[in-house]
Amino acid sequence: MLNKIIPEQSIQKAKKIIERCDKIVIVTHVSPDGDAIGSSLALYHFLLQLGKSVNVLVPNNFPGFLKWMDGAKDIIVGEWKENLAKDLIKAADLIFCLDFNTSKRIDQLGPWVVEAPGKKIMIDHHPYPDTFCDVTISHPEISSTSELMFRFICRMGLFEFMDKSCAECIYAGMMTDTGAFTYNSNSPQIYFIISELLEKGIDKDAIYDKVYNRYSECRLRLQGYVLYEKMRLFPEYHASLIVLSYEEQLKFQWKRGDTEGFVNMPLSIEGIIFSVFIREEENMIKISLRSKGTFAVNEFAADVFNGGGHLNASGGEFYGKLEDAVALFETALPRYSEQLSINN
Ligand code: 5GP
Ligand code: MN
Repeated sequence: MLNKIIPEQSIQKAKKIIERCDKIVIVTHVSPDGDAIGSSLALYHFLLQLGKSVNVLVPNNFPGFLKWMDGAKDIIVGEWKENLAKDLIKAADLIFCLDFNTSKRIDQLGPWVVEAPGKKIMIDHHPYPDTFCDVTISHPEISSTSELMFRFICRMGLFEFMDKSCAECIYAGMMTDTGAFTYNSNSPQIYFIISELLEKGIDKDAIYDKVYNRYSECRLRLQGYVLYEKMRLFPEYHASLIVLSYEEQLKFQWKRGDTEGFVNMPLSIEGIIFSVFIREEENMIKISLRSKGTFAVNEFAADVFNGGGHLNASGGEFYGKLEDAVALFETALPRYSEQLSINN
């Protein structure tokens, strides 16, 4: 049996709002990952089953390895269809905010969503949620928004409206936010949910294959290059750094999603508990941070790169030169020396 994590009052309030609304928009965070797309499309299928008119909006495009999901081709990409996105947000009588905690995380859609006249429901697992929604279902202790989506649908007593497509998207989101159930995945409840999803007819092995075994040749060669040539270790701090320039990515014909997971790889080295990946984009530098154990990368991300996220998986941005972002990291590292040794 599932325990009741989401407060009953939030469930009832959200259910009433859904009953009253017909034009529904679902938004999720910039550079959407498997949990963002999985939870959004899961809700999309569920609401379609309820007979609602639904659109999923994302600020920018998402990786090809998520495009197999049913409904992915119907997702509206804000940076390509700005006016349509704006009009849908304005006209919606209900907006779901999934897998993000602050309107900054949806880039250009942020002000439109915050100022929109419709009702708003946030379902998310990042700490410190904004308060612009009518219902905020925020559970940082749960490893994915997709798991929360499963719980949300069940608790409304509408499990029968979860179809196979919805179940597949939930599984994909739960799987990607736990590294295929290799971290943040010790709760027995996760496996109870998976058994329910299997009952809905999902093929979990096929989903794994579609997400993790469909890379391009270039992507695999880039991975080899990064590990052999670019990974630097800082053994005294139990840390690792990978820096990748824009030019290097061009050489390997980088596509969105090609570097996904690279930041996790150094954590497979014995004694490395903190990994940072600094990647140059056209107009900014993107930083990804991961850790094992209790070392809080969200604090490091917030302090050093004005970012945030979860305890073990966070990100941030830097506007300036690549070498300055690297210098910022190297200067900050000694300040965390104590936490990095205690946690190892
Ligand atoms: P990733 O490294 O996969 O891009 O991001 C990992 C996690 O860090 C995301 O799920 C999100 O919670 C958080 N994150 C990534 N980039 C940013 C950012 O620029 N700002 C904040 N506040 N959080 C971020
Ligand atoms: Mn997530």
